[in-house]
Amino acid sequence: MEPDFEERYSRQVLFAPIGERGQEMLRASRVAVVGCGATGSTLASLLARAGVGYLRIIDRDFVEPSNLQRQNLFDEADAANSIPKAVAAATKIASFNSEIGLEPQVTDLRPENADAMLGGVDLLLDGTDNFETRYLINDYAVKNGVPWIYTAAVGSYAATMNILPGKTACLSCLFPDGPSGAIETCDTAGILNSAVNFAASVAATEALKLLCGAREGLRRTLLSYDLWLNQRAEIVAAKPVEGCRTCGRHEFFHLAGEGRPQITLCGRNSVQIHEHSRPVDLTEMGRRLTPHGQVRQNGFMLKFAKGPYELTLFPDGRAIIKGTTDPAIARSLYARYIGS
Ligand SMILES: [Zn+2]
Repeated sequence: MEPDFEERYSRQVLFAPIGERGQEMLRASRVAVVGCGATGSTLASLLARAGVGYLRIIDRDFVEPSNLQRQNLFDEADAANSIPKAVAAATKIASFNSEIGLEPQVTDLRPENADAMLGGVDLLLDGTDNFETRYLINDYAVKNGVPWIYTAAVGSYAATMNILPGKTACLSCLFPDGPSGAIETCDTAGILNSAVNFAASVAATEALKLLCGAREGLRRTLLSYDLWLNQRAEIVAAKPVEGCRTCGRHEFFHLAGEGRPQITLCGRNSVQIHEHSRPVDLTEMGRRLTPHGQVRQNGFMLKFAKGPYELTLFPDGRAIIKGTTDPAIARSLYARYIGS
């Protein structure tokens, strides 16, 4: 080990199950973190400090003031300047560990870009806030034999599960049809930052075991913990469920993009439109929109405020429309100001 490397990771190398060999394995590891909100930024932060050599950080959103209560890699300047979370996270990580290879991707994970976004890594980490994306990760992971770790937090509740394709249960084994009815989200039920950190800490520890070759110590259950009530539960997930559509029958419904909406509700009072997968010249668009409302842009995105609505446009044509949960209104605003 070179002296700087040895010094930086000395306390982790002293931890016998990792040691020098494990540390070198972490340095050679490549991980993709899908979603860089609360759990994603905590996972990325922990793994970067632990010396995982390469992190791809995929997130479609930008930093807002309400994120700062729990999203560990962001600060007030990121929120004031609406910096994309993937970019803000990579910048912050580079400031505390310049040896990590970083690949920020400001995009929405979709079936069409799954190979590009999830390929070439040893482990996929779930920092998302929705089951649609988790099932997409599950399909990709099972199809390509890549391990992934499910992580979730809402209210004071944290949950996480390791998925080792072909060896343990996959997400579809436990939840074949996805959650039904209204799902609590951090925008409806609130969230404690300690629940986020708990879920991310457990998942990051499992990630370290997996990456430094200590697979026999991996937990083979779906673990959930309510930190407010001090209630812990574990569901056995040690084996694939026979006949599972995904890992048993290899039907990759989500990866095929079947039934996938082009318009999704995202967060409190906003709608995302992603049917226009074509590049947009933000500078030119800014000039066009200036006579019609307030325009702000930072090179990564353009914000256009008009009456009760705020439209955030990204260079790939994707838009988030705030101020409504009605897809029809969102679609009409998009068509009026950006083009159909
Ligand atoms: Zn399965």
